[in-house]
Amino acid sequence: MRVEIPLFFVLGAVLGSFTNLLIYRLPRKISILNPRRSVCPNCGKVIPWYDNIPILSYIILRGRCRHCGWKIPWRYLIVELLMSSLFALNSAVLDLRESIIASMLVFAVVLLTFVDLEYMIIPDTSFFTILIAGVLETIFSGKIIANVLTAAFTFLIFIGVRYISKKGLGMGDVKLFAVSGLLLGPLNMIFSVFLASISGILVILPAMLKGNLGMRSRIPFGPFIGWSVYCVFILKDWIESLII
Ligand SMILES: [Zn+2]
Repeated sequence: MRVEIPLFFVLGAVLGSFTNLLIYRLPRKISILNPRRSVCPNCGKVIPWYDNIPILSYIILRGRCRHCGWKIPWRYLIVELLMSSLFALNSAVLDLRESIIASMLVFAVVLLTFVDLEYMIIPDTSFFTILIAGVLETIFSGKIIANVLTAAFTFLIFIGVRYISKKGLGMGDVKLFAVSGLLLGPLNMIFSVFLASISGILVILPAMLKGNLGMRSRIPFGPFIGWSVYCVFILKDWIESLII
């Protein structure tokens, strides 16, 4: 087994713990640095380091606060497991440079998924992380003109979609598509737009038919975009081999 895989797993778990803090604090406008230590949202007690070990502490404490017995949401464990396993997957299927870029993408997408589902906003932290990943990928791949043009065209197309749909598509979604263009280039961008649209329709249509969603309901589309971009990014060599 390659030595990076367990390292990426641990890194994913630690960053997953930090992502949980961001998911809680960013939409509530609580500073990331203050309070410095994590506190239980129910009893306010500072959580000691040994109760704050990613994945393990949740299992040892059986998902409850040691002091007040408050049930810690499932999300904490899911985020840490998801990030550690996807970081490990990245390092297993990609080279080191690409695994770092793919892992930045995982961090951004996990963060925006949980924030967008609950608050209907895409955090700037996710947007800027994908932007940096896109700039790195563009520089390393040398496809500067192709990727910059993809980002620009994608932005213009989705600004148009936003206008035609009378703001049915959020500005956060438009920005997210545009920075993803920088990361993916033209061909893979087309794939990821298809994947985002199809997966979005497959999930949203049954809810609409059941009457849970009206035509004018706002739909958190960010997770569909983010996960499609991630899938296409890790499969891009395979996709290119199919076409060329
Ligand atoms: Zn507590």
